[in-house]
Amino acid sequence: MASQNKTTPARISKIQDSRKIIPSAEELTSGILNGDKTSLARAITLVESAKKESLEKANTIIEKCLAKKTDSIRIGITGVPGVGKSTFIESFGKKLTSLGKNVAVLAIDPTSTQTKGSILGDKTRMQELVKDENAFIRPSPSGISLGGVTRKTRETIILCEAAGYNIILVETVGVGQSETAVHSMVDFFLLLKLPGAGDELQGIKRGIIEMADAIVINKADGDNLKRARSASVEFSRALHLYPPKENGWMPKVLSCSALENTGLDEIWEMILKYISENKAANFFTSKRQKQNKNWLLQTLDDQLKQHFYQDKKVVKALEKLIDDVINNRISPFRAAEKLLRAHHK
Ligand code: GDP
Repeated sequence: MASQNKTTPARISKIQDSRKIIPSAEELTSGILNGDKTSLARAITLVESAKKESLEKANTIIEKCLAKKTDSIRIGITGVPGVGKSTFIESFGKKLTSLGKNVAVLAIDPTSTQTKGSILGDKTRMQELVKDENAFIRPSPSGISLGGVTRKTRETIILCEAAGYNIILVETVGVGQSETAVHSMVDFFLLLKLPGAGDELQGIKRGIIEMADAIVINKADGDNLKRARSASVEFSRALHLYPPKENGWMPKVLSCSALENTGLDEIWEMILKYISENKAANFFTSKRQKQNKNWLLQTLDDQLKQHFYQDKKVVKALEKLIDDVINNRISPFRAAEKLLRAHHK
């Protein structure tokens, strides 16, 4: 019977332990601000949660973290599967930590599911960086829409920055709109390409070249060196067909070998040059401000739509009005007006 006594010391310590499992928003915030990885990971789990209470807690933490002044650089990295993104992030990330930087690696991969494993979910990727105490790696949350992953990644960036990570690398695969999503949350957007020109250029999506602040030809090593050089020339030529960016930056073409660790210094120097030029011209902050503003407007857009289409009055009226529109009993414009009125009632 004694073992069932609720007040035994063992039991009390068990209860205390289980309480520790659910820290408060204040505890998590102070953990994050002290650079504690466990608190950071827990807060990200809250951000990723579908539960209302968790999200409210996450919002409290994010708001507190937003207040912390940070001096970070957010870099987006994209490229087709096999181009060497994880090898690059591992080598580049190690280089940055060796320079005293704290590096967080996040991903936007809307195709990932729990079973398939996300682009960063595969444990064999970035084995060295995972062990680095100055690096924090978080896979893309799985099984949710691109919009969902995008929101979570944006909020995760804020948490990572508050935890002292001053370099944020956001990886994505060239699927659907994921590149646009990453581009909308970073300061610098880097496109990784393979050696080989001509035919390579044919297949590239125009919009991605327009987004890129730099094209880096990876795998410029061994037998690939010559092909990497010709790819560089071709891409430089292609980039010159586009006008300079709003901030005056002409996107650069560089090459590297993520496997042999060559060319990485030049890439880092280029990014630093970009950041310092942008800061000097006040573009750095204004770009982030614009990104925040767009994010607000986009969120409003999504939420308004969601409220509208979930409104029972709308659901009920919509079915009938679609039928009326199809059968020319009412104009689509008039039907829309009626629906909006029904929603506002
Ligand atoms: P990801 O799918 O874009 O993340 O590509 P991975 O980083 O997984 O790399 C795909 C393959 O390319 C792996 O076999 C890597 O070892 C190889 N690889 C990556 N970077 C380089 C490089 O710089 N040179 C060479 N020769 N191979 C590389």
